Amino acid sequence: MSKIIHRTFKSVPRVAAAASGVHIVDQAGKRYLDASGGAAVSCLGHGHPDVLAALHAQIDKLAYAHTSFFTSEVVEELADHLTAHAPQGMDQVYFVSGGSEAVEAALKLARQYFVESGQPQRTRFVARRQSYHGNTLGALAVGGNEWRRRQFAPLLIDVSHVSPVYEYRDRQPGETLDAYTGRLLAELEAEFQRLGPETVIAFVAETVVGATAGAVPPTPGYFKGVREICNRYGILLIADEVMSGMGRTGTLHAIEQDHVVPDLMTIAKGLGGGYQPIGAVLASSRITDPIRKGSGLFQHGHTYIGHPTAAAAALAVQKVIKRDGLLANVQARGEQLKAQLAEQFAQHPHVGDIRGRGLFVGVELVRDRESKTPFDPADKLNQKIKQLAMENGLLVYPMGGTIDGQLGDHVLLAPPFIVSEQDVADIVERLALSIDQAISAVAR
Ligand code: PLP
Repeated sequence: MSKIIHRTFKSVPRVAAAASGVHIVDQAGKRYLDASGGAAVSCLGHGHPDVLAALHAQIDKLAYAHTSFFTSEVVEELADHLTAHAPQGMDQVYFVSGGSEAVEAALKLARQYFVESGQPQRTRFVARRQSYHGNTLGALAVGGNEWRRRQFAPLLIDVSHVSPVYEYRDRQPGETLDAYTGRLLAELEAEFQRLGPETVIAFVAETVVGATAGAVPPTPGYFKGVREICNRYGILLIADEVMSGMGRTGTLHAIEQDHVVPDLMTIAKGLGGGYQPIGAVLASSRITDPIRKGSGLFQHGHTYIGHPTAAAAALAVQKVIKRDGLLANVQARGEQLKAQLAEQFAQHPHVGDIRGRGLFVGVELVRDRESKTPFDPADKLNQKIKQLAMENGLLVYPMGGTIDGQLGDHVLLAPPFIVSEQDVADIVERLALSIDQAISAVAR
């Protein structure tokens, strides 16, 4: 019996024994094509020699030094690299150990910015339903997934949630894309008005919604509109790119494609590619300046912030992505993936929508394609697809509750940036087989 509190008490997962390139091998010797990078983490695949070399060198030199005593060369170099490639003006960075910590730090930095700029009455956050921002209490509070929040709701700070961008289901028949976007923006502004805009700290949103909704991108002009409304009321924009950032969508930052610069941005998964736990908050100096000139201290910190070994992994990952021009491969293979999925599932009665950006693609399953009726959650279709895909040697990241936290099923694909043309074709073939097997198991 395993002594670990695993993700479920009902079973112990298979033992991962080795990994290299786009494959993971379990203890029984079975090989899996990693089409989701775990949860959109392993952007360089597994066992990349340059990252391993950088890690070995860093551990030999300096594995750890507490940030209340020291900074380190490698962390400073990573900060220089990230800010040099960040959206304009985002020249400050705070390092943490993962996505939830990045979101917590961003929320606190935003609050302290207002305290130190003479607006302590700003105490509220606005976010979106069906988003995921992490599992710590602050991040869970801004998150909008009902199922994840329910039992902890009495412990959470009060956050208001507006509609997500979800064109497939929420754009009305006859409504133009612009009109739909305008409707979402009007709802956001009305919520600011309802709360009293002078009480709002920030609007928090995933640029492309990942785990909970399945790679749902914003509509054209959505983030431009959000930026304008936030500017109108002096409200900050926090872009959560923990999953969608660091190249996953084909540009280093997903929001580049929306031509918007947020005030704060969280990054994590693809930053270190899974070689070490690391996350970060990128901030514009407009946000840090009042604190620098005021108390002189961001009142936050964890034992492992600015960890040299984690920074060495992230720096190596980011340098390889740049040196090898991997974002071009994300774009090309992303196009191929979406095109082959569209072809494979063109007539499929149970594939309702294929969406996403770059190598960040979601496939939404429906019982009936015409009416978009979802499967019964009791069918556990998404779990069956995950299990059957594993039997077929494929790792994908399916989830239920796509529509409202209860109903709906999708499969998230997020293969490594090094994926080949043949790998993409294999992913589509094995996914199609797994979906069909799962649906016939449900139908039985
Ligand atoms: N924010 C987003 C958008 C995420 O997708 C996730 C994780 O899936 C998180 C935050 C939380 O990150 P972590 O699991 O590293 O704490």
